[in-house]
Amino acid sequence: MVRELREHRSQHCRRERKCLVSVNQLGMEDHPYDVLVVGARCAGAPLGMLLSQRGYAVEMVDQNAAGTDTVSTHWIRWPGVQQLRAWGLVPALEKTGCPPIASASLDFEGRVVTGGPKAGGTEAVTYAPRRTALDALLVAEAIAKGARLRERFAVTGLIVVDGRVAGVRGAGPDGPVDLHARVVVGADGRNSTVARLVKAPVLEDRGILARSLYGYWRGTAERGVRVVFRGRRGISLWPTNGDLTVVSLVFPPEEAPAPGRTARDAFYMSSLREVPEVGQALASADLVSQPRSAAVRNARRHVHGPGWVLAGDAGHHKDPVSAQGISDAFADAAVLAYALDAGLSGSLGLDEALAGYSATRDAQRLAAFAYTCQQADWLGESH
Ligand SMILES: Cc1cc2nc3c(=O)[nH]c(=O)nc-3n(C[C@H](O)[C@H](O)[C@H](O)COP(=O)(O)OP(=O)(O)OC[C@H]3O[C@@H](n4cnc5c(N)ncnc54)[C@H](O)[C@@H]3O)c2cc1C
Repeated sequence: MVRELREHRSQHCRRERKCLVSVNQLGMEDHPYDVLVVGARCAGAPLGMLLSQRGYAVEMVDQNAAGTDTVSTHWIRWPGVQQLRAWGLVPALEKTGCPPIASASLDFEGRVVTGGPKAGGTEAVTYAPRRTALDALLVAEAIAKGARLRERFAVTGLIVVDGRVAGVRGAGPDGPVDLHARVVVGADGRNSTVARLVKAPVLEDRGILARSLYGYWRGTAERGVRVVFRGRRGISLWPTNGDLTVVSLVFPPEEAPAPGRTARDAFYMSSLREVPEVGQALASADLVSQPRSAAVRNARRHVHGPGWVLAGDAGHHKDPVSAQGISDAFADAAVLAYALDAGLSGSLGLDEALAGYSATRDAQRLAAFAYTCQQADWLGESH
């Protein structure tokens, strides 16, 4: 029966994006999917792509529709760009109209370092795509490789069989549905429902160390990345899709403006104008969006257990000041795809494979977590 469903999927689902044949419709009770991925953005969509490419039956579910916006700025640092390049996605990214960034300027209290990003001594471009463009591209690639997507489907519970997570319960446009799988991946962001439902232990929580506001500007002359640190504020400008520049302001939590849009917008504008170099860069530009605000806890969770695993922000999230989360989510997807392949194919026990993913994640990402906390904390301290 499982083989029949797999054949059905490979022949039908790859063509029909919305094919939603359920376990019950086929009269099956066993796991119809190898992997069920909750959340289809920077961690979940590449994972869906990589596992489908290896022939696994993958369903991605997301409470949002693909290509909707989310609260995040956009700079993909060099390791993330390298990952996109390895997946063959950079040409498609450029086709969305996302400009390559070939120069950078870091201004630290007036001491300025400029140049092009370099990798191994050679010039390296980076990108800052709008999430509407990046996330849509990642989902489209996953679907093209055979993963299925169930949009506007919110996971609300887990199916647990003999102490192992064996699927999810949720509801979408077609009403409540149970979906069974051998493994459930929580790639559902920093407020992860999967992490909450499995009671994933929090290993470290440094709290909120900084806050941010960002908006989109039209008409700046900026073609590169500009990062300016002044006192207790960090300001970044990145060119993005649509000939826009995204301008982000990071500041200590205690400097947060009074509640309400008017005070928030005024604080954003005055903080940018206070820095002459930034004011100059924005002199002939217009703010074309309402500034959006965020305050992200710096926390990491234990990431695996029987039948479940966490990736991306669900596993650990941190202040945007280091612009690290997208690259880390890509890296999690790559390592987890490898581990799940080993665990699902039987070359390793599944639990052993997930423990290996967890150890690799810690080894690769703890330094960035610590560095981000240090940077955000430093903005919060008077110095
Ligand atoms: C203000 C701000 C600025 C940032 N700037 C940068 C930057 O410049 N560079 C950078 O690298 N990183 C940045 N980040 C971090 C980056 O946004 C995240 O690290 C990245 O989005 C993590 O990807 P993810 O796939 O793990 O989670 P997410 O992008 O959060 O995606 C999770 C998905 O899961 C879905 N979901 C959640 N719960 C459920 C549920 N119950 N059922 C179904 N679906 C569910 C959500 O709808 C969402 O689509 C920033 C973050 C913020 C807040």
